[in-house]
Parts: sequence; C-alpha cells; structure tokens
Amino acid sequence: MPEQALYLAWRPMRFEDVIGQEHITRTLRNSLKSGRVRHAYLFSGPRGTGKTTTARLLARAVNCADADPGRRPCNRCAACRAVNEGRYLDLIEIDAATHTGVDDVRDLRDKVAFAPGQGNYKVYIIDEVHRFTGNAFDALLKTLEEPPPHAVFVLATTEIDKVPATIRSRCLPFEFRRVAVQAVADHLQSIADAESLRIERPALELIARQGTGSVRDSISLLDQIVTNPDEEITLELAQDVLGTASSEAVRALLDALVAQDAAAGLDIINRAVDAGSDPRQFGQQIVEQLRNLLLTQTASADLVVGTEEERQRYRTQAEGLSPARLLRALRKFNEALADDLGSWQPQLTLELALVESLPVAGAEAAMAAEPVARAAPEPDLPAPASAGMSSASSPEAEESAAPAMESGPSTEAPAEAPAPPAPETLTLEQLRDRWDAVRQAVEQQGRSYVPAMLEHVQVHDLRGDLVILGTRRNFHVRLNTPDAREKLEQALEGLFGRPLRVRVQPIAADTGDGQIDADDPLVASALAMGARVSVQGSAEKGD
Ligand SMILES: [Zn+2]
Repeated sequence: MPEQALYLAWRPMRFEDVIGQEHITRTLRNSLKSGRVRHAYLFSGPRGTGKTTTARLLARAVNCADADPGRRPCNRCAACRAVNEGRYLDLIEIDAATHTGVDDVRDLRDKVAFAPGQGNYKVYIIDEVHRFTGNAFDALLKTLEEPPPHAVFVLATTEIDKVPATIRSRCLPFEFRRVAVQAVADHLQSIADAESLRIERPALELIARQGTGSVRDSISLLDQIVTNPDEEITLELAQDVLGTASSEAVRALLDALVAQDAAAGLDIINRAVDAGSDPRQFGQQIVEQLRNLLLTQTASADLVVGTEEERQRYRTQAEGLSPARLLRALRKFNEALADDLGSWQPQLTLELALVESLPVAGAEAAMAAEPVARAAPEPDLPAPASAGMSSASSPEAEESAAPAMESGPSTEAPAEAPAPPAPETLTLEQLRDRWDAVRQAVEQQGRSYVPAMLEHVQVHDLRGDLVILGTRRNFHVRLNTPDAREKLEQALEGLFGRPLRVRVQPIAADTGDGQIDADDPLVASALAMGARVSVQGSAEKGD
C-alpha cells in the first residue's frame, strides 16, 4: 500500500504531468524557454483541474537553477526542492476564501516591495481570488498596476465572472478545462499500473465519471477505494465504496419520485446530508441514476453500467415514471448541480429540485380524466373547473401554454358556459397591491399553516403566468409543497380570474441573526404543524 496518499504521490512534478491542460502548459513552457516571465497570470476553471498545481510548477520554474530553461522545474536544485517541501519563503500562497480582508492585501503590498530572499522571483499565488472584497481588489489592483520587477502573481479562480475587469485586464489569462472521462481513466490506469494495483477498467471509468473532469478528485476517489493493494478492485466493489453513504438513499429517493411522495423525498435528502453525504456527490448520483432510468426507458437497461440486480431495479422504476416526468426530474436535478451546492444551505437546491420534479398533487389524475387539458386548451373549450385547480399549474404545462379562461372569482361557474376572457395583462404591481387579499383568500380556505407562512413571503416576480414568491426564511420548502401551492394557486385564480402558477424560492437574508425564534408566530405555527425547523442554513449564511 502506498505510504503517501496517491493524489500527493502523483502530484505533477513537471508541466508535462498536468493532464488535459496541454494548451496551457505548452504556452507556459515556451514563454519560460524564451525568458518571458509575466508579472500576473489569471488561472480560471473548475475546481480540481490543476490551477494551483500549475501555479506551483510556475513558481518552481521561474526560480529553478537548472541551466537549461527547457528542463525547469528540475525538481533537484535547492529552489525546486524547497518549494516541493513547502519551505520556500518566496512562495506566498493566499487563500482568498479565508482571507477576504483588505488588511491581508495591504500586508502583501507592504512586503512585496522587498526583494526575494532566496531566488529570482517572489511568487504570490492567490487562490479563489473572486472571494476578495471590493477593497481588497482595489488594493490588489494598485499592486498589479506597478508590480516590482521581482514579483509574479498567479491569481486562481473558479468564478472568473466575479473577478473585476480591471484586475483581469492586468493578467495573462489561462482557462483550465474539465478533463474528458477517458483521459482521466487513462491517467488512473497508469497510476494503477505503476502502483501494481489490480483494478478493472470499468471501475476506473466509474471513478473518472464521479470525479467529473477533475483529475485531483478522481485520484482522491481512487485513494478511497484502494484500502488493500492486494485486492482486485471490481466495478461492483468500486460502486459499493463510492456509494456507501448514499447509494441506498439515492435508490430510496428515486422510489419516492416514482411514488410522488414529496415528504418522503425531502426526508431522504435531509437524512443523507445530515449523515454526512456530500450534497454535490449525492446530487451527481441522483442524476447518474436518473440517466440510467432514461437509458432503460428509451433504449435498454443493457446499456446501463451496473449489476443485473440494479438493471432490474431500473426497469421497475422506469415503468413507474412517465417519460415527461423522468425528463423533468433529470433536468431539475441537473440544474441543481449547476447551482452552487456549497452555498449557505447545501441541501436546499436538491430539495427544490425534488419538489419541482413532482407534479402538483392530483393534477395528473385530473388531466388523465380530461385529456384535452393536457395540450394548450382551445379558447372555446370549457375550463376543467371541477378539478379544483388549474391545468396550467401542472409542471408539464408550458409556462405560456394556458391562456386565461375565466374572469372573476367564480371557480364554480358551470363548465358549459364559456367564461368571458380574463384581462389581457396582470402586472407585478397589481399582484403586489392585492397581496393582502391573496393572503385573506388563503386564510378563508381553512385551517392551514400556509397563511402564517405567507407573512414572511414577498412577491418577487411575475413571469407570464408564473408567480415567483421569495422568502427569507427556511420555510420555502414547506410552501413549495403541492398542497401549499394548490392553496395559493386557487386563491390567485379566484382573485385574478386566470390560472397562475406559483414558485417559492429563497432570497438571501440581508438582515436578521438567522436564529430560530420560538416566539415567532410563524415558527410557532410551523412547529405546531409538525415542521422540522432547522437553523443550519441561516446560521451559515453570514460572513
Ligand atoms: Zn530546479
């Protein structure tokens, strides 16, 4: 068994070792060969694609004592060895994720003027530079405008859009890319061969897929799997190890999706995250399994990488989901992954994806009984008034599909009489003006936790027939349930005489201490309704 973690042992020592970023390493090597060292570089790209590693290679190369510039970094001279051993005083690494203060940059500005103590260049690597505050950026900009001749700055970021243009324009930009699965798998193969590990190719490909284009993450996953170097690692073993915490949870979540059980699904997500599953990895596994369902449904389960037992389960689950709902769920969870799952409430995006994947309760049954409502209804067709909700509230309906059918608060109008057309437009202002009336209408629907929650909700936006409500509290998920939305949509249709759909989304809190206050009437009523109240998200938000 390797003494060192594999990802440390296999850290690139030369530019040629950086996998999948040849477009960058070639340029850097050429400029080093011709002695053109820039004062500021900007490395952008997804995490784990080699930005910091390349920055450290550059730090070694500009200080390397090897006579042949083409061989720098040599990893043998005093400077190279000092960098590799983490004791090179002229390499200063700043993690902006933990040093957002302007003081750190001022400190940097004061010290950058001093000549390097050991080599030719002082190299500053500022990781996650987009996390700097405005003042810190200003201070950095002043340094970049007049850098001392011995200073080299390497700024690294996963979010280049958040780096001010003034900073960007001072740097030589390099864009790191995700590495293709096969290229990562090839690299893992070469590591496995060199370490005399026996591991099946499909297992390596599974690891590479889970690593989502990050060589570092993929090697770390390989590390997790290899506990006994004499053991042959099969695909099944890799699946077991990679999914230990969550594969059962992902299976259960898909079952909840099939059963349209939002409560069970939310519970599964929360339990998995509480139990330590990484929300991103959990989300990836959900998407992976939904994709397997799609393959099973549209082609054949034989295309799915997995055991026969798993394939059989995919077949069963695929039968329980309509293609439209499967596509919708796949899309929603895929979008959730694109969001920042490391944000102030990591499981939130997964919860929203789940709730948005589910049809409004009863809507499918109502539509099955009223097939014409599935398509955009003709203007002269009667509204499905008895369904108790509008067909447009179905997640499958296009946002603009259903024209207004009725005007006035009457939903019990006889279906035979075509209702007069609704007012052409409803403005955001009108909606906000009458929000109190909406709340009263929801109250009149009977005892429910919804009216109390609405006190903490504001009308955020109106897009076509989609009303977007924002809430600063943790209860958006409760309001995003089919039941709560149905109540809201009924009240809205009653007041505005047209079918409107509702989406509740969180708005980042800008005030408040984020603590749950048991005296808060909203909290009290939510608790009385049996809500699980958590401050996790709001407690983490402030910084
Ligand atoms: Zn060297």
